[in-house]
Amino acid sequence: MPLSQIPTPACADFLSALTDTLGADAVRSGDAIPSDRHTDWSGTAPLAPLAWLRPDSTAQVSAALRICHAHRVPVVPQGGLTGLAGGAVPTPGAVVLSLDRMNAIESLDPVARVVTVQAGATLQAVQEAALAAGCLFGVDLGARGSCQIGGNLATNAGGNGVVQFGMMREQTLGLEVVLADGSVLDMLRPMVKNNTGYDLKHWFIGSEGTLGVITRAQLRLQPAQPARATALAAVPDVVSALALLGQLQARCPGGVAAFELMWDDFVQHALAWTGQPRPFDQDHPLLVLTDLSGADESALAQALEAVLGNAMEDGLVLDAVLAQSQTQAAGLWRLREITAEFPSRLAPINFDISLPQAAIGDFADRCVAALSSRFPGHRSLRFGHLGDGNLHLSTDARSLGDLSFAEAEHAVEAIVYGLVAEAGGSVSAEHGIGLHKKPYLGASRSPTELATMRAIKHALDPLNQLNPGKVFDMA
Ligand code: FAD
Repeated sequence: MPLSQIPTPACADFLSALTDTLGADAVRSGDAIPSDRHTDWSGTAPLAPLAWLRPDSTAQVSAALRICHAHRVPVVPQGGLTGLAGGAVPTPGAVVLSLDRMNAIESLDPVARVVTVQAGATLQAVQEAALAAGCLFGVDLGARGSCQIGGNLATNAGGNGVVQFGMMREQTLGLEVVLADGSVLDMLRPMVKNNTGYDLKHWFIGSEGTLGVITRAQLRLQPAQPARATALAAVPDVVSALALLGQLQARCPGGVAAFELMWDDFVQHALAWTGQPRPFDQDHPLLVLTDLSGADESALAQALEAVLGNAMEDGLVLDAVLAQSQTQAAGLWRLREITAEFPSRLAPINFDISLPQAAIGDFADRCVAALSSRFPGHRSLRFGHLGDGNLHLSTDARSLGDLSFAEAEHAVEAIVYGLVAEAGGSVSAEHGIGLHKKPYLGASRSPTELATMRAIKHALDPLNQLNPGKVFDMA
C-alpha cells in the first residue's frame, strides 16, 4: 500500500517496529532523511522516502525486509547513488534501504584470489584491498570512489576493463541476497564449477534491486598487473580498429586492458574543453585509445610499438603516438575521461547502446544521419568501448532548437532506439533500465523474454515490493 494510503497510526506502528528491531541509529524519517537520498546521479525527479533504513548486518536487512513485507511497504535498495538510469530513486510510499554501514572487506585470499565483501563496500575500497594483497580487481569505472559493490552487482556494471576481464557478472563467485519476505538466500560458495541446477546468483546480478537485496559477495581477483603501455592511434574506420584490436589480442593474449574508440565529433570537443594540442598533424575520423597491461613495462611497449608499426604498414592505422611516461598516458586518457564533465558542458541526452562489434561503425553513422535529417545542426558526440561492442552517444539537447529538454529527449530517443531495435541491439549495455529506459525495454527484449522476467519477479517477490516500477511494470 503506498505511503499516502497508510493511515498515520499504521505508519507510526511500522516505523516503531523498525526502530525497535534495528535501533534508532538505523532508521530515519521525515526531515532527518538527507535530501541526497531523494534521487541519484541521474537527477530523476526527487522524492522523499517514507524512511531511510541503514542496517548493519545481513540479519538486520532480513529483519527490516520482514517488517516491510508484513506492512506491505515497498523497499528501494540504494548503494552509492551513482546510477545513471534512475534505478535507486524512491518510488511513492517506499522506504529506501542503504547498505552504507555494511562496508567491510571480510576476507581476502591472495592465493585463491577471492575477496569476500559486504555489499556496501565501495568499488575503490575493494580495488585498494586487492592491490595491497598483490592482486587486481577486474572492474573499474569513473564512479569508483562512491559506487558500492552491491550497486555494481545490481547493475552488472562494466567500465573500461571489460575487454580484459568482463563485467561484474564475470567477477562473481558467490552472493548472499535477502529476498522480499526477509529470507536469506546464501549462495556464498566460491567455486568455479558448480553444475547443480540453476545458477541462482545470476538472476540477481543486473536485476537492479527488483529481486533481492544483495548483502555480501565473493569476487574473483586477478594477478596484479603493475605495468602499462598506452597508445593513441588514428584509424580510417571501425573495421580497421577491430582488426587492430585482433592483432593486439593475438600478440598479447589477455593483455589488452582498454580499447576505446572516439569519433572525430567527440575528439574535437574533448580537445577544446581540455585545451590540449591536437595529437596528430591532421584530423582523423576515428581515434583509438588503448592500454596494454602486464608484468613487464618494456615488453608491453615493444609489443605495442611492433603491432602499431605493422598496422601502419597495412593501412589499418594512419598515425599513432605511444605514451613515453605515466604523465603522457594520463594526458591521453584525459581526452577520453572528459565524459565526466558532460553534465556541466552539455545538456546531454545520453545513450549506452550495445551492438555486435562489426555493426558499430555503420550504426553510429546511421544515427547521426537520422538525427541530422530531423535536427539539422544537432551536436552529437560518439565514443565507446569498442572491445565490448558498446557505443555511447551524447546529443546536446540545446542544439535541437526550441524544444524543452523532455521533448528533445523523447524525440532523440525515439530515433535512436528505433534504430537499435532495427539492428537487434541493446538499449542498455551497462547502465541498466531503471526508470529512464523502461519505455524502450521492448526494443531489445521479445514479449516472451519480458513474460519470463515477470514470471521470475512474481516467483521471488509476489507482492511486488522490491523496487517496484523499475525495469518493467508488473501489470
Ligand atoms: P545505485 O546508484 O545506488 O543503485 C543502482 C541500482 O542498483 C538501483 O536499481 C538500486 O536499487 C540497485 N542497488 C544498489 N545497491 C543494491 C544492493 N545492495 N542490492 C540490490 N540492489 C541494489 N556504469 C558502468 O557500467 N560502466 C561505467 O563505465 C560507468 N561509469 C560511470 C561513471 C560515472 C561518473 C557515474 C556517475 C556512473 C557510472 N556508471 C558506470 C554507472 C554505474 O551503474 C554506477 O556507477 C554503479 O554501478 C552503481 O552503483 P551504486 O552503488 O552507485 O548504485
